[in-house]
Amino acid sequence: MESHALTHPRKIMVRATNWIGDGVMSLPALQALRARFPSAEIVLVAKPWVSELYWRLPAVSRQIVYSPDGEHRGAKGFWRLVSTLRSERFDAAVLFQNAFHAAWMAWRAGIPVRIGYARDGRSGLLTNAVETPLPAEYGHQTNYYLQLLFRAGLIPPPQPADEIRLVLAEAEMDWAAKHLRKQGLQGPRFLLGLNPGASFGPAKRWLLHRYALLADRLVGAFHADVLIFGSRAERALAEEIARSMKHTPLILAGETSLRQLMALLAQCRLLVTNDSGPMHLAAALGLPVVAIFGSTDERATGPVGARTRIVKRPVACSPCGLRECPIDFRCMQAVTVDDVYMTALRLAKEVGITHERPA
Ligand code: SF4
Repeated sequence: MESHALTHPRKIMVRATNWIGDGVMSLPALQALRARFPSAEIVLVAKPWVSELYWRLPAVSRQIVYSPDGEHRGAKGFWRLVSTLRSERFDAAVLFQNAFHAAWMAWRAGIPVRIGYARDGRSGLLTNAVETPLPAEYGHQTNYYLQLLFRAGLIPPPQPADEIRLVLAEAEMDWAAKHLRKQGLQGPRFLLGLNPGASFGPAKRWLLHRYALLADRLVGAFHADVLIFGSRAERALAEEIARSMKHTPLILAGETSLRQLMALLAQCRLLVTNDSGPMHLAAALGLPVVAIFGSTDERATGPVGARTRIVKRPVACSPCGLRECPIDFRCMQAVTVDDVYMTALRLAKEVGITHERPA
């Protein structure tokens, strides 16, 4: 299947996924592509809200940010992007994003080799349309992207990724420490992060009043200060938790860019989260993570890394993969504050984190 152009490609376009979590889970495949073609220029085409994820990654040579709400808005904007891609004269396109649109864009840009999964009726636009493996064949989503490269003949049989690493610059870490200092959080502290949202939909969200109860208990156990993360759209969730808590958390939801979110997450000693983009970011930053799962399958989208733990209660309807629960939300109702609290304490002990606060 491998064409001549991919024996020594000079320039490869990679269409990134549109969700942050998928972006993190596709990093092992991106690294495998880089390892296979160490001297190729790998140019990522990514939407604005995920593009910062790929900063400072050796696998990525540079990015073209695709802004459908900005300079690439509407038909005119799309053709402007196609014309940019055409002028790049790529040798190949690797599509981690599964939409018809991604294949159409690569085809209209005249990229001679177009590799992607045969999804969304786009096989006719791909030169290497790879049959989608069954979930049982790929297991975790990280392997789903690796399998695309393997099945396209680009890499040898992949090993499942047991770690994903995102790295921050010192200046980014300094910014986060300074930002927290301005909020009165200086000195050695146990910062506990909560991520009560999930962009995909409410079916992935544990109950807010339980987050509040949990946070107060963990404040007691670790003398912690609580940071609540999330997007602008999730700010109301954070505020509701804050209203229900005895202690006063710092709400950061909606106040950060993606890099700032990463830098602030990296300041935390522990994150309690739903199945979400920040969960994957935190795990890839090496943070101990307690992830609460209900409607989704942790074997497919669980956080990657030895310092992560899942809390999930077995219910017959899970995983449903729905955005909203059509019944009584029993998957999340079944997860108690005690379940999450005990998991957090065990994880803290296992990874050797202790409480501390200056006198
Ligand atoms: S259908 Fe079942 S698994 Fe899906 S959200 Fe509802 S309770 Fe959870």
